[in-house]
Amino acid sequence: MYGYVRISRDEKDRAEGVHLQAKNQVKHAKRKKLPLARIFCDNDMSGADADRPALREVLGLVAGGPAKVVLARDVSRLTRDYDLGNELMKLGRDEGVRYCFVNATDYDLTTGAGRKNFMVAVAEAVEYREVNTENLLERMSEEAAKGVMQGGSRRFGYGKVAGTHPITGDEILDRCALRDEEVAVLREGRDRLINGETQTAIITDWNARGVTTSEGDRWRVGKLSHLLLLEAYVAYDLGEHTDANGDRCECLNNPEGNGIRFHERSGTRHRGQWPAIFTRAEHDAMRAAVTAHRRSKNPERPRQRNGEYWMTGLAECGGTWKEGTDRPGQYCGGWLVGSALERKRKTGPPAVQRRYGCRSKDGFNVACACGRVFRDADALETFVGQAVIAEYENPDILARLDRGNDNAEQIAALQKRIETTAGNLDAEADRRTEVLTGAGDEFDLRVIDRTITGLKASLKTLRAEQDSLRSSQALAVLADIGSTPGELRKAWTTKGSRWRHEAAARVIEKVIVRPANIYAAKWEDQNGRVWRFDKSSVEIVWRPL
Ligand SMILES: [Zn+2]
Ligand SMILES: [Zn+2]
Repeated sequence: MYGYVRISRDEKDRAEGVHLQAKNQVKHAKRKKLPLARIFCDNDMSGADADRPALREVLGLVAGGPAKVVLARDVSRLTRDYDLGNELMKLGRDEGVRYCFVNATDYDLTTGAGRKNFMVAVAEAVEYREVNTENLLERMSEEAAKGVMQGGSRRFGYGKVAGTHPITGDEILDRCALRDEEVAVLREGRDRLINGETQTAIITDWNARGVTTSEGDRWRVGKLSHLLLLEAYVAYDLGEHTDANGDRCECLNNPEGNGIRFHERSGTRHRGQWPAIFTRAEHDAMRAAVTAHRRSKNPERPRQRNGEYWMTGLAECGGTWKEGTDRPGQYCGGWLVGSALERKRKTGPPAVQRRYGCRSKDGFNVACACGRVFRDADALETFVGQAVIAEYENPDILARLDRGNDNAEQIAALQKRIETTAGNLDAEADRRTEVLTGAGDEFDLRVIDRTITGLKASLKTLRAEQDSLRSSQALAVLADIGSTPGELRKAWTTKGSRWRHEAAARVIEKVIVRPANIYAAKWEDQNGRVWRFDKSSVEIVWRPL
């Protein structure tokens, strides 16, 4: 005989823990003088789950024999699912498997009456689950509408220690109250992400400093962006709404400035019972920073590699194709890509030169550019950076940039168009349903389908446009690009290379780098450093403002 014990995730169903179940089984086996070979256990698994590993193992054993008996507390330990109940019943009828219960009578599955009684017990177990699941789901959406914090582990930034348990000495946490030291960490993460630091750089630093997650673990890249972008941290800004009964939602009684409680099953958002940590603009800016790194806006432009070469995607090759190639004498126009070149020296370790170069072959080893122009990255970046800073400090440009920063009106106008388009789309979808139910003909349907396709496409374009406006505004506002004279000069050295890229890309269309004999050239930067660099070979193409 084999024993089977199971404990469910649902607290209500945890009447008897697995250890107690097992102990009672041993007692029961002794009393009945049945040899108990082994006890199988499924922890934290639902009785509706037909693929519980321990159950599957024990069923395989008894089906094969010679031991043919499974011992459990009652039918509900074995199954809370009809199909599985049916399967168990058939094993009894056809394979001679028997089920013994500590808390219930046994069923003789070789007789019709025994099978009927067994299936009645299965039905009761199923009903129990359905009723309780429904109650649970209802309770959960009610709690969401009040803005109650989700259960589970403590959310980073919250869970202030409110006292200690008088007996156990455990800390008692206020799950909705801020933990100042963790809020400071979140704010630091926000600033560093927006300022163009990579997630890797941030978590490496945090792990080195011993800053841990709410579970006390080390940080991972995915964990960081997931956490920072949680809606729960964002101040609720979605306005009035009603609950399932059409009444004003209870969550709106929670203080303004509280975070967002997202109820996944119903897709509804409510004002939570905890204070927010980020504003919507900060949230948007962080998302823009994360996605900017994931994909460049223009797929034609090469992506920044490791964020080390901030002019990637801005520097164009101004060379020409060589004789004997695909396009002899033609202008190249390829994008320069950053890479490190090791040069051997007569003595000492090899020198590493950061440089931008025209790559002649693409990923498929097909000739795509001239491959003849290279430039020292430090020199080129210093030259262009200096020009960009000067541009930002030009009062004329500054005034115009400030105006350009304000995308709010444009975003609002786009929102109106999006709503109108979405409304039209709904109307067309309704018409389509009408036609399908017999109120029109084939021809109508074709016209409607075409209209729907068109509306969907324009909706997509409008949303993309709004998205890009939002992210650029958010980045600009929060990174202080061009907001205060002198700020940018300071920021240029302290902020990350991705930030430098964004700042430059706002005023520069591209930088054309032509072939040059750099060995004969000299250029002195603002700090008096002399570079082997031919500035006449570099042309900055400014964006029209
Ligand atoms: Zn609500
Ligand atoms: Zn080239």
